[in-house]
Amino acid sequence: PEEKKLLLDSIRDIPDFPKPGILFKDITTLLNDAKAFNLLMDHLTERYSDANLDFVAGIESRGFIFGAALAAKLGIGFVPIRKKGKLPSTTIAEKYSLEYGVDEVEIHIDAFLNKEGARVLLIDDLIATGGTAEAAVKLINDAKAECVETCFLINLTFLGGVEKVKNLSPVYSVLEVI
Ligand code: IMP
Repeated sequence: PEEKKLLLDSIRDIPDFPKPGILFKDITTLLNDAKAFNLLMDHLTERYSDANLDFVAGIESRGFIFGAALAAKLGIGFVPIRKKGKLPSTTIAEKYSLEYGVDEVEIHIDAFLNKEGARVLLIDDLIATGGTAEAAVKLINDAKAECVETCFLINLTFLGGVEKVKNLSPVYSVLEVI
């Protein structure tokens, strides 16, 4: 509880970003707070150290920061899931719908080194409507790996995103915003 408060207090709310009416959770202030960042990474390391994971996959771009740090701590590889057109080698793609229009995420087809049934943790900073994470779990499965859990620093529970993901993967969030 005290630790949760420290984490929550390290995250900044930015009104009207990126559009009017949206209250954006800014985690750059958590990254810049050594105590908070370490507390978070120690918590995640403890949670996943006995999970027998083979890889951590992170969603562009804030998922890269937490995911890469966690993979290094766990001594396993990191796999980036990126927006369309950014990954240089052969990719698999998954479309998902936004409020207006569609977006697409990609993974390298050989990201999990052809290790059939590789155990993967998916991580991102925040789940809102769940569309991004749902597409990312599908990519992990399409790359013939198993998404053991999907982990978020923040769950905006009022948007119900977990409902989209939980049929595909168990979901864990460190902080819930109601
Ligand atoms: P969703 O697909 O609606 O769940 O949106 C989640 C994606 O949008 C994640 O990759 C988040 O990083 C990003 N996102 C949405 N809202 C916020 C926010 O308030 N702060 C930080 N990232 C956000």
